[in-house]
Amino acid sequence: MIQDIAPHVYDNAFAHRREARPDDAVLITKDEKAVLIRETEDGFRFPTVAEVGDMPLRFGFLIDGIAYFFGEEGVEMEGFSYAKQAEFRAKKPRYLAFAAVTGFQLVRWMHTQNFCGACGTKLEPSTWERAFVCPKCGRINYPRLNPAVIVAVLHEDKILVTTYSDRPSKGMACIAGFAEIGETIEECVHREVFEETGLRVKNLRFYKSQPWSFTDTLLFGFYCELDGDDETVHVDPTELKEGHWIRREDMPDRSGEASLTAEMQEMFRRGQELR
Ligand SMILES: [Zn+2]
Repeated sequence: MIQDIAPHVYDNAFAHRREARPDDAVLITKDEKAVLIRETEDGFRFPTVAEVGDMPLRFGFLIDGIAYFFGEEGVEMEGFSYAKQAEFRAKKPRYLAFAAVTGFQLVRWMHTQNFCGACGTKLEPSTWERAFVCPKCGRINYPRLNPAVIVAVLHEDKILVTTYSDRPSKGMACIAGFAEIGETIEECVHREVFEETGLRVKNLRFYKSQPWSFTDTLLFGFYCELDGDDETVHVDPTELKEGHWIRREDMPDRSGEASLTAEMQEMFRRGQELR
């Protein structure tokens, strides 16, 4: 998955922020949708602090002791070009792709931190945590994370997948949806499955979570079983997706893909799903 970057180590502790050094990396984004990179023999890299010269830098995070700073928006540099966010799902090396998508998420958030949503006063970056604070009313804004579930519903060696009703050949998802205020993540699983398919499920097993920066989401992956024997899927006409049951032997190989959905479907194909 996209966050599986071992042996590289991502360190987002704000307490570890430090001044820039010449070999640190700089994320120069454009319109929150592209970042400046240089293609190399092994994949790509970002410009270094030494290469960007004099520009204001804001600390982001560390990977393997190298700090990633945010530089000036939209700058052009000889030998570098802008790569779009979507390209980083598959780009190698993966730890740098992870740095890019995590950077996009932080940039999108920072660009909304101008004025206090309550009193309209200009916000200031916190000096001791990753947040912006209002100097007048004291409100604190943290980076936005939307918790959501990915649910693999199983029944008799089959898995429930959803496809877009207008393009059934493109992509195979699991049931997915955002948590609502006042519900647990387990209640979210039951509600989303019922809303999308009319089915009831039981025996929830939490598998793994995944930071999915493309949509500011923190995903919680669950396996569960159909409750009962009626597999009939009732499609909600307002949903864009349709549910289908697929047999284990008919599942496509999804090894090596970036998403939690792909990994959960691949584990099922191999008979290694969480039981
Ligand atoms: Zn305020």
